[in-house]
Amino acid sequence: SAKKSGEDSIVVATEELVREFDSQKELMEEFKRALMKEEIVPYFQPKVDLKTGRITGLEALARWKHRERGFISPGTFIPMAEEMGLVSKVDFIIAEATIKALKNWITRGVVDKNFKASFNISVRTFEDIDVSEKLKFLLEKHGVSGEAVEVEVTESVFINKINKVMGELSCLKDELGMTVALDDFTAGHSSLRELGKLSIDTLKFDRGLLMAIKENAKRGRIIYSNLINLCNDMGYNSVAEGIEDAWERDFLREEGVSHGQGYYFGRPMPEESFGERLAEERRG
Ligand code: C2E
Ligand code: MG
Ligand code: MG
Ligand code: MG
Repeated sequence: SAKKSGEDSIVVATEELVREFDSQKELMEEFKRALMKEEIVPYFQPKVDLKTGRITGLEALARWKHRERGFISPGTFIPMAEEMGLVSKVDFIIAEATIKALKNWITRGVVDKNFKASFNISVRTFEDIDVSEKLKFLLEKHGVSGEAVEVEVTESVFINKINKVMGELSCLKDELGMTVALDDFTAGHSSLRELGKLSIDTLKFDRGLLMAIKENAKRGRIIYSNLINLCNDMGYNSVAEGIEDAWERDFLREEGVSHGQGYYFGRPMPEESFGERLAEERRG
């Protein structure tokens, strides 16, 4: 149920949630209040170097900490926020909280200069808002370099308003020094023909691809191997999402994926826990 507490325990289906809130309309009203009452917070999940196992960055993932109903999953409220035209609010709440946390860790000396913090920006946000302007403002406000930050976009950003999005991404990279990751790669309608045109630094392989390998080991493995080679030959950084055990880690590392993220290395966690984890690693 939604009342479960603890780290990353958010398993509420949309229908269940709507039932709990009596109606979709009430849920939407509650969500608007949540945006103003600081109930939308980031959890941070480590990204690690698969060779060394060390944390090299994080992904910020939005959580709705409802005062009575516990944690509500972004899988539920992000699509709703997109429909309501409010997803940019979520995206920039998470972006700013992440930049602030990063500043704090830099000041405390628990992250080095190569550390990267990533957050997700929705296609709708790119359509509605001057993303580079807004992020420039947030970085300056908190005194953080764009080089410490990466934006994750899904390939749906390349369907609508492609010129605006490409312009924004170039700005993020060229003017702010940020990097851009393509999220959920292979989960959607990735066209390899389009890939060459995109100004992307990092490909994040979706967990689905790993699942396909387990279901159909031989052919799945050929596809994964060749995609990773393609990715490496094109000069992209690679991150595998959803690594849940040592076998998966070893497999991906042997195939040449440089970075990974998943429950095996750490669940998404509150800022404080992540800071402790960083400090622990620092101590060795
Ligand atoms: P995503 O960006 O692809 O994030 C990865 C998702 O995989 C997260 O789900 C994460 O908790 C989950 N995950 C991490 N490790 C594992 C693992 O080992 N196994 C499995 N099965 N799953 C794992 P989460 O946090 O529920 O987020 C779901 C999606 O919601 C995200 O997918 C992203 O598309 C969206 N989202 C989250 N925060 C934001 C945000 O601030 N803005 C926007 N626009 N979208 C967001
Ligand atoms: Mg992501
Ligand atoms: Mg992803
Ligand atoms: Mg995914």
